[in-house]
Formats: sequence, structure tokens, C-alpha cells
Amino acid sequence: MPISFRRSWSNPEIELFRDTVLRFLNDHMIPDDEAARQRGHVGHELWRKAGQAGLLCTDIPTEWGGAGGDFRHEAVLHEEMSRLCLSGMNAAVHSIVAHYFLNHGTLEQKQRYLPRMARGECVGAIAMTEPGTGSDLQAIRTRAQKQDKHYLINGSKTFISNGMLAGVILVVCKTDPSKAAAGTSILIVDTEDCPGFRVGRVLDKIGLKAQDTSELFFDDVRVPADAVLGGVEGQGFYQLMADLPYERLIIGLTAVAAMEGALELTLAHVRERKAFGQAIADFQNTRFKLAEIATDIQVGRAFIDRCVEDLLKGQLDTATASMAKLWGSEAQGRVIDACVQLFGGYGYMNEYRIARMYTDARIQRIYGGTSEIMKEVIARAL
Ligand SMILES: Cc1cc2nc3c(=O)[nH]c(=O)nc-3n(C[C@H](O)[C@H](O)[C@H](O)COP(=O)(O)OP(=O)(O)OC[C@H]3O[C@@H](n4cnc5c(N)ncnc54)[C@H](O)[C@@H]3O)c2cc1C
Repeated sequence: MPISFRRSWSNPEIELFRDTVLRFLNDHMIPDDEAARQRGHVGHELWRKAGQAGLLCTDIPTEWGGAGGDFRHEAVLHEEMSRLCLSGMNAAVHSIVAHYFLNHGTLEQKQRYLPRMARGECVGAIAMTEPGTGSDLQAIRTRAQKQDKHYLINGSKTFISNGMLAGVILVVCKTDPSKAAAGTSILIVDTEDCPGFRVGRVLDKIGLKAQDTSELFFDDVRVPADAVLGGVEGQGFYQLMADLPYERLIIGLTAVAAMEGALELTLAHVRERKAFGQAIADFQNTRFKLAEIATDIQVGRAFIDRCVEDLLKGQLDTATASMAKLWGSEAQGRVIDACVQLFGGYGYMNEYRIARMYTDARIQRIYGGTSEIMKEVIARAL
């Protein structure tokens, strides 16, 4: 009997939702993917269509305009985009931003942003990284200075996912540079009609070609005093730390889904392709590699599924979520590299999905906290 990669947390209702997601990806994302890769972004229209199809903010309560589902609905969307290597729409960052509003925002902030984010009318981004600092977040220099009833924001951010298309950006700033974590706040910036705010280059990456990753500049950007997330200064670091399990699990989950997608593609290729009078699939080396890959996926899935169940119960801790991100992203790199090898020269051609999966996989070990930072977090919890 062929192996199936079941999810312990799924059920018929969730699988029906998966069908809806797949229909959307087939109808709207796949046909435009090549053009989006050339442009460097998917455009606003796709976001609006995703909102109309009920695919955004699925785990946000209906009172805030979300679908009222739970993390399983989110998981299905992120998994299927990763399995099919459709990386143009960074719905994960969008969901993460929505969760900042949900978990830390004031009533007014939730009302103002969440319904529009669920409809895909307002794309979300979060800007932490700066040209001078990434892993060492406490060293950020972007400054938000209070003046009467507003803040003035000055600084620059880089590598920001959804940065060009974003309607709302959570900007991590220093409100008190004399303090480390306690001097950090998250300021909400509406990008429309925002004097002093500028999107720089949409960066040219080796992978994630259809996804916009941008530089952002803030030059005396004036936001009202109530634009501090949660309404109280100095909470930024606490807010960032609180949402790490959610963010890191999404990366681990997409890693396993990408491995599943890569295995599917590779099986089809090696069964079809012949060398020395036999299918590539029949060489013992190929069968052993595929067996190793399938085993990695099964083992990874068991752990990720446990993390999903823990998250659903509100019990996923940061160190375990960091393990999901660390192990998942490292395994994804190894597995997809092995798949490319089994494709031979075709595996190096961008027109083959496996080649795009290879370059997309590389960033998983870097963003959302690098593998080295994951190890620090895990080691501290031992
Ligand atoms: C495509 C893409 C999308 C991104 N999206 C976003 C986004 O939406 N928002 C955002 O804010 N940022 C985003 N980032 C930034 C990303 O999170 C950072 O690149 C990442 O955190 C690493 O920071 P850095 O690039 O400054 O590397 P550095 O911090 O300079 O690290 C360089 C190397 O040193 C290692 N290192 C650093 N500190 C330690 C340590 N204590 N111990 C051991 N090794 C260490 C790192 O692991 C790494 O290998 C994105 C990046 C990319 C490329």
C-alpha cells in the first residue's frame, strides 16, 4: 500500500477547506506565477481575491472580520502554497501581523485593521530588520520620538516581506534608546498618504522571486500617539516574543509540506526518466535516497503534527517551536538538494518546479530567526 502523509490534526471539514484552497491556487495563483516572478510581486488584486475566497485571516474571530476558524485552516493554506512552490503571496507574514493586532492591539486597532486585512484590502508587513542589524534585534536604531500628540519615526528597514504591497506595517522602533528591550515599541504605520515614508528597492533575491521583499525608509514620518501597538510604550519586545511559537511553527510546517511536494515531483520524474536502459527510479541509489526522504518526511510530520496540536491547545512553547523551525528548515534544505540531484540537469533549470523549490528552501534557515539563533533559544531552555 502506498505511504500516505496523513495529518493527525485534520478531518473531513479541514480537507474540504484544502480543496477550496487548491481550487484558488489553481485558478488564480498558478496561471500568474511566472508573470509575478518576472514582476517581483503578485499585485494587490490577488490579495483581494484571496480575501474574497475566504482564505485570509482564517483563524481570526468573526467579530473582527476573520473566518472564525483555527490554526488548522491557516496551516492548510501555508502547506498547499509551499507544497506547490507558490511563494508569491506571503500570507504567513500577513497572518502573523493579524495576530499581533488580535493579541496585543487595542479595541480600536483591531476594528481598524483586522476586517480589511481579512478582505485582502490591506496587506500586512512587519519591519524589524535594519541594514545594520537582524539577529540582534535589540540593536535596532529606527527611532520613534514622541512630540505632543504624535510620534516622529526616522530610520530604515530592509528585507521586509510584503513591504511594497503593504497597507499597514508594524514598525519596530526605539521609543527610549537609553533602554534595551524596555525601550522598544511597535508603531503602526498606514502606508497610504504617508509623507516621509518611502519604499526603496524591491530586492532581487535568489529565490522567492514572485514575493516582494523591500527596503523601507522613514524620514520624519508622523503617526498619531495612539499608533503604538496596544497603546502602551515599551511593550514591543514582549509582544514580539509572545508570538514566536506561531511564527516558527508556520516555517516548520511549510518545510515539511515543501518536502512532500518535492518528493511527489521527484517520484514522477525518476519513474519517467531512463538511463542505461532502465528507469532512474530502479537504481538502488535512487530507491535508497527516496526511502530516506520519505522517512524524513514521516518523522518530521509526526513532530510538526504534535506541535500543531500543542498550538491549538495553547501549549506550544518557544523552544519547541524553534526546534520545529530548525529541524524543518534544515531537513527541507537536505531533502530538496537530494531531489535536485535525482533530477540531474533538469533540476537546475528554473522552468522545473524542483529548481525553484531549491532556491526557495534556502531562506527558510535564515528568516524568522536563523538556525544559529534557533539553537541559542533551544540551548537556553535545556
Ligand atoms: C527573503 C527575506 C525575507 C525577510 N522578511 C523579513 C520581514 O518580513 N521582516 C523583517 O523584519 N525581517 C525580514 N527578513 C530579515 C531576516 O529575518 C534576517 O535576515 C535574519 O533575521 C538574519 O539577520 P541578518 O540578515 O541581519 O544576519 P546577521 O544577524 O548579520 O547574521 C549573520 C550570520 O551570523 C549569525 N549569527 C548572528 N548572531 C549570532 C549568534 N549570537 N550566535 C551565532 N551566530 C550568530 C547568523 O546566524 C548568521 O548566520 C527577511 C530576510 C529575507 C532574506
